[in-house]
Amino acid sequence: MLNSLQPQIKALVLDMDGVLWRANKPVGRLAAVFARIDELKLKVICATNNATSTPEQFAEKLAGMGVQLAPKFILNSALAAAHYLKKQHPQGGPVYLVGEVGLQQAMQVLGFWQAEKDVLAVVAGMDRQFSYTKLAAATRLIRNGAPFIGTNPDKTFPTPDGLVPGAGSILAAIEAATGVAPTIIGKPSPYLYQVALERMGTDRLETLAVGDRLETDVLGGQRAGMRTALVLSGVSTQHDLVGWPTPPDLVAADLAELLGM
Ligand SMILES: [Mg+2]
Repeated sequence: MLNSLQPQIKALVLDMDGVLWRANKPVGRLAAVFARIDELKLKVICATNNATSTPEQFAEKLAGMGVQLAPKFILNSALAAAHYLKKQHPQGGPVYLVGEVGLQQAMQVLGFWQAEKDVLAVVAGMDRQFSYTKLAAATRLIRNGAPFIGTNPDKTFPTPDGLVPGAGSILAAIEAATGVAPTIIGKPSPYLYQVALERMGTDRLETLAVGDRLETDVLGGQRAGMRTALVLSGVSTQHDLVGWPTPPDLVAADLAELLGM
């Protein structure tokens, strides 16, 4: 299927939830899928909007499914946010973070530390310890001129107990209090994909963004100027494709079919 694209695809940026697994269940035989990726000599990065877990935690989850992938090949929207900030502030510096360990670690690695005054930016995402105190601090800093960056726009995410509030709901609270809309880093913005492209050193036209959601994975890939593929193993369905204004380059049942297995 990949061979139908010109120029030839040399790298993949894979979404994880709905592509590699659904909740804690792998989609198909993942070890064989990654062996196939190696066989085709494709570079690969896994990229997710989920900013709460670290690349190490995602690598561990993959290892539990029989796939050995080093954490440096895994990117979340927290890391992409840190890279985005690093471009503007190569020296690092103080930031106000609303988020969990994934965001805190990503920022720390690139030289940013948590502070409550004179910050370079407020960076917010999913935070299960979100509170009025944090909302008030973020509001004061943004109202005083700090740029407002959001890791990802997802307003809810699915759990066994139904949909629960996600990063987007927290960003909406801060936006309501400040009148400032965040700069979003995760999909469907192109930044997460741009960091993946930089990390692999591949051309965008030779890199395929693979995801299970038209409105985030596919749209984000298109905004980054990449080739895109929708896999039907997650959220979006064949039905959603009907009348979709900017369809992906490829559609497959799952990653295995996309790779011609
Ligand atoms: Mg997904």
